Amino acid sequence: MNVNAIREILIKQNRPQEDCALVERAHKFAERAHKGQKRKSGEPYITHPLATASRILEMHLDAATVAAALLHDVCEDTEISIEDIRKEFGEEIAVLVEGVTKLDKIRYKGTERSAESLRKMFLAIAEDIRIVLLKLVDRLHNMETLEHLPPEKQKRIALETLDIYAPLSYRLGMTELSGDLEDLAFPYVYPQEYDWLIRTTKEQYKNLDEYLKTLKPRLAEELQREEIPFQDIHARAKHYYSLYKKLLKYDMDLAKIADIVALRVILPSIEDCYGALGVVHKLWRPMPGKIKDYIALPKPNGYRSLHTTVFGPDERPVEFQMRTREMHEEAENGIAAHWSYSELKRANTKEYAKANTALMNKKQYAWIGQLREWQKEFENPDEFLESLKIDFFKNRIFVLTPKGDVFDLPEGSTPVDFAYNVHTTIGNTATGARVNGKMTSLDYQLKNGDVVEIVTQKNKKPSSDWLKFVKTGHARKSVSSLLKKFSEEKAFEKRGGELTELRLTVQDRIGLLRDVTNVLAKQKINVKSVTTDTKHRSWPVIIIQAPFKSRKDLEQTMVKLKTIKGVEEVSYKLL
Ligand code: MN
Repeated sequence: MNVNAIREILIKQNRPQEDCALVERAHKFAERAHKGQKRKSGEPYITHPLATASRILEMHLDAATVAAALLHDVCEDTEISIEDIRKEFGEEIAVLVEGVTKLDKIRYKGTERSAESLRKMFLAIAEDIRIVLLKLVDRLHNMETLEHLPPEKQKRIALETLDIYAPLSYRLGMTELSGDLEDLAFPYVYPQEYDWLIRTTKEQYKNLDEYLKTLKPRLAEELQREEIPFQDIHARAKHYYSLYKKLLKYDMDLAKIADIVALRVILPSIEDCYGALGVVHKLWRPMPGKIKDYIALPKPNGYRSLHTTVFGPDERPVEFQMRTREMHEEAENGIAAHWSYSELKRANTKEYAKANTALMNKKQYAWIGQLREWQKEFENPDEFLESLKIDFFKNRIFVLTPKGDVFDLPEGSTPVDFAYNVHTTIGNTATGARVNGKMTSLDYQLKNGDVVEIVTQKNKKPSSDWLKFVKTGHARKSVSSLLKKFSEEKAFEKRGGELTELRLTVQDRIGLLRDVTNVLAKQKINVKSVTTDTKHRSWPVIIIQAPFKSRKDLEQTMVKLKTIKGVEEVSYKLL
């Protein structure tokens, strides 16, 4: 990948001069910053930002996002800081680059936290949908070059791709990207299953491909006769991982799966899609229950197409998919498809407004609905763009440990809340916090994506001031119960030599009393009196009166007494 490829796409897309200039400038900057650095493959590092930028360009995203794609690894791997980017390229691009860098901190190990909360956090931290798109495309290129990494890393990155990145792409409507990510991860995460699938389906794919080649001219001819103008008919193989998941549901029986390869028909209008469906059904008998109208009822991620499965020649089941060019592009680019409208806006505000209204009428985009649920109707295009910023987790924030573990906390949480969430001991012994590398006070209000490190000190105690600012119930409870314990201890110490009474409920046996007095002697307790209450014959109570120097002494003695055979219960009373 080199910069000429980027230039060619810019020209082909008719981008304004200012876009081209910005992209050139970002490329020069990145090239200088990464000078001398190599990818694990041995290629110059700049090939990676270039590959990311070209894919971003192909999604028709705005020039700021393309520039950010070129600059996205500059702050991670070189001496250049985000402030340098801000000075050189302005706030918008700096925010995009910073967002990608933040998302790099997230680590998924497949066990500790649910993938779902990680996906949510991913979106919440990103704040701007363009950052998510940058990260997804960045990951795609990293997956394409994964073979050059050591095996442990391959496995971790592939699993993260399968559990986090692919489902996110899918939900954002980018089904092609999602399928590509899954297929790239598949051999690393399930190597044996992958080998099996390739071996088993190789013949089948080839067979089907040849079979479909015979159906294509038949359909084309019939569409022409019916005067339905089609733009393209092509065979399309199911992604491997998606086939594997389907096989798991169908007893690994390939014969039960009809859409291993489907014939896809691209048509100019929705009416033509339904027209073509009729033609397909006229030619071949449809399989009952297999007609799926995702145009009238799109999938939750916005996917639209007409699907049907028919019995082709020799009674072989074949799937057909009818869609318009627009639906096709949306299936490829999902949410990104809507950002290309920002270009229309620059070119012609009226035209943009029209496109915008058309878009708003597409109620079927359930995910857009999700994205703007919190928002009322918007008046102007700027607000519409604003609305694509993700903001659905209004009342939660997600923060990270320096190792990238994720903690999800209520808004307004402080380092103390975080500390107790990690571990009670860390909360109890916290003395300060570093947030994003800077020392902060313990009452600091955490923000999405903050990397938090707690400074602890052995024997440190929580302060009652903490109760004024902690947000989580867990932290509040832990602090107040510990403070209560401390105050009781103090009260205990103040009592000096006063007596405490221990009551032991026992199951009497020979030698029990001797064992009890032995424990007391070993603990160096100066026993004042030992009596036995035998009111309940089967459960006598031994009553010991003695002074204890501290609460700790008392607790230790009680624990020791409980270990004696025959002692069922120990309680105490301050006299
Ligand atoms: Mn990267």
